[in-house]
Formats: sequence, C-alpha cells, structure tokens
Amino acid sequence: MPPWWHVTPYKGLFLLVLIFVGLEYFFNTFSDTGSSLFFNTTKLPIHATKPLPLHLKPPLLLKVNNKTSNFSSTNSTTNFRRNSSALVTDPPSSGNNSSTGSSTFPADLISTVDSDYTSKASNATALPPCPDDVSMNLYGRIPIVRTPVPTVGELERRFPWLLPGGSWRPPNCKPPKRVAIIVPFRCRGEHLLLFLQHMHPFLKRQMLDYTLFIVEQDGDGPFNRAMLMNIGYKEALNGSNYDCFIFHDIDLLPEDDRNLYTCPDQPRHMSVAVDIFKYKLPYSQIFGGVSAITREHFKLLNGFSNSFWGWGGEDDDMSNRIRYHQLHISRYPITIARYTMLTHKKDKPSPNRYDVLKQGQKRFDKDGLNNLKYKLVQKKRNLLYTWVLVSIKPPS
Ligand code: UDP
Ligand code: MN
Repeated sequence: MPPWWHVTPYKGLFLLVLIFVGLEYFFNTFSDTGSSLFFNTTKLPIHATKPLPLHLKPPLLLKVNNKTSNFSSTNSTTNFRRNSSALVTDPPSSGNNSSTGSSTFPADLISTVDSDYTSKASNATALPPCPDDVSMNLYGRIPIVRTPVPTVGELERRFPWLLPGGSWRPPNCKPPKRVAIIVPFRCRGEHLLLFLQHMHPFLKRQMLDYTLFIVEQDGDGPFNRAMLMNIGYKEALNGSNYDCFIFHDIDLLPEDDRNLYTCPDQPRHMSVAVDIFKYKLPYSQIFGGVSAITREHFKLLNGFSNSFWGWGGEDDDMSNRIRYHQLHISRYPITIARYTMLTHKKDKPSPNRYDVLKQGQKRFDKDGLNNLKYKLVQKKRNLLYTWVLVSIKPPS
C-alpha cells in the first residue's frame, strides 16, 4: 500500500477515480453506440470515435499517372461536409415528413438518355487498383430523406457524374469488383425516386464500380420478386460482366454508409436492423430485404426459386439453398447494417407459401436460373438506372 493509503480522503478519492475509469471503459466497450458515459462524443464523423468492427485501415496513397494522390480528406467535420475530395457528394439534408406509400409510375420516369455510354466511361483497364479502404470517403450515419419527392429531371441534374444506365465508377482507380444492384419493382414510383436520390451518392462514396438495374414486372398478375431478381441477374450479365450482385427492395434505405455494398466470401444478409422491426433481426435465418451474393455463388445456388407468386417465402427458400450448399449467411453488426423502410401498404401474404417452401429442396436444382422464362418487353439505359421491363406468367 502507498503511504497515503491510510489517509481517508485520499482513499475515497482513489476509489472514486477507479469507479469513474471502470464505468467509462464499460460504456465504451459494451454500449451499442460505443459512446462515452461522461464525455459528449458524437458518432460522426466515423474517424472521431473508436475503431469500427470493420477492417478500416488508414488512408492509402495511390499512384495515379506517376503522381501520388491522397484519397484522404479532412476528418474534423461534424456537419456531413467535406471540402477536399472530388469523390464525395454532400448528402441531402434530412426531411421530417414521411412518405405516403406507393404510387403510380411517374410519367417522366421513363424518359431515357441516349448518350454514348463509352464516351463518358474512362478506360478502366489502365488505372491503378483502388484502395481497399474507402473509409475516408464515408460519413457513417446518414439522414434519410422522405420528402419532398424529387423529380427525375432534378435527380439527373443533381448527379451529372452518372454514366447512362445508372452506373458510376471511380475515374482515377479501378475497383476490384463490378457490382450490379438488382431492384424488383412494380408500382412504387415514389419509392423509386427516393431510392435513387439516396443510393447514388451512397454507392459513389463507397468508390464502387456499380450499375443499378430496376427490373419491373409488367401487367397486374401476381408479383414474383424472386423471379425479377433472377431476371436482373441474367440481364445484367447479358453483354456485361459483374462479380457481385446486391438484391435490393426498393423501400429499404441504408442508414449508414459503412455498410459496404460488396460481396464477401459468404452470402451476406444486409438489412439486419430495420426500423420497422425495432432494429432487431426478426429471426436468425432471415435473408429478405437486401442481400449480396457473388456471381459464382448465385450460379451455384441456381438463383432464387421461380415458384413463389405473391408475397413471402422466396427469401426463406434462398436461405435454405444457402445452407443446403454448405454456405452460410454473413452479416455486418446491427449498429451498421441499419435500414429505414419507406411506408407502404402491407401485401397480403400468399396462402400457399409454406407448402411451396416445404417442397423447396426437391426443386433446388431444377427451379431457378435454369428454368427461368420471361419475355423482355423493354430494356433501356436511363441516366439514373437501367430499366428492364418484363412479362412473366404463373404456371397455368
Ligand atoms: N415490390 C414492388 N411492388 C409490389 C410489391 C413488391 O415493387 O407491388 C418490390 C419492392 O422492391 C419491395 C419488395 O418487392 O420493396 C418487397 O415487397 P414488400 O415491400 O411489399 O415486402 P415487405 O416489406 O412487406 O416485406
Ligand atoms: Mn417493404
């Protein structure tokens, strides 16, 4: 014991300091936000707080045309603004009102841009590889804007850096993989505009080589989400090459840009923590909402089942396919894989979905990519997305 230990006020003070340090350590380590109990630390920007569970490394120096360019930008900002990187677009400011749900397809949404795709695209083969770590471009938590709903023209003006087809790739380096975002769609025009507004700057900040595909089901027959995603996969690979597929509900907007839209070694369930489920995983095998699968795995899995008409079942069937092929579902932590679901009327669940699901395993190798039938009605490169309109029919 030190000599002052027997002096009572010193002993008390020492114990108080010990309790303080202990509590602070506990909160930093175990609280959901990694925040401090006693100090006013803010979650943004991400560099200002404790290290993330992601493999975020310090900024890399890139060699571009024999000049060294630093992809880092200031990290001392708290208001979402960065002033030094041309790669970063300011996120929009947050709105308060909520959207009113589904609507018809806005008339000007089908206007297309007839520009020459190759003229704006850079010669990617000559570029140095992009850095593994893109954290210097990211904001962490980002606001979700629900209103006012932008127009197509407004969005096109806002994102002049897009390549026709809803694509972008970094001009100065070559990302390791090409990513196709596949969105099943029908009659959710208002959601589409909010989705485009949110996703393009989000994906760009992650320095991805990406293209956004909106796969729309024609007519008013029963909706088949899984089949539209299979079609998206096929149509994306028709004439192009993608390594990574992100299957994405139109109404789910990611709340944190550290949720990287890439494909890891195992299929990744992305929409782990959704606001309407109180940011909790509803059940451990869930694979609905947003998911990421490599091209090789999607082929191995024979894609999604085509047999689920109407709401429900197809995502659980994919979860079963993943297990059957001895793959497993990977996930980001719930603090990062957070989503807001835009408001919509809940569809009536399909009454036979459990029966189809139960019989699923018998059909894994003959129901999916290899028996997919559809009629391509329209395929167009709009500036904001590649539009694939298809006609599909349930078996008679
Ligand atoms: N979807 C659509 N139109 C529909 C039904 C579904 O575009 O009429 C697409 C859309 O991408 C939507 C996804 O399928 O986000 C999943 O459907 P829904 O949102 O109804 O499912 P839930 O949120 O109830 O799981
Ligand atoms: Mn939904």
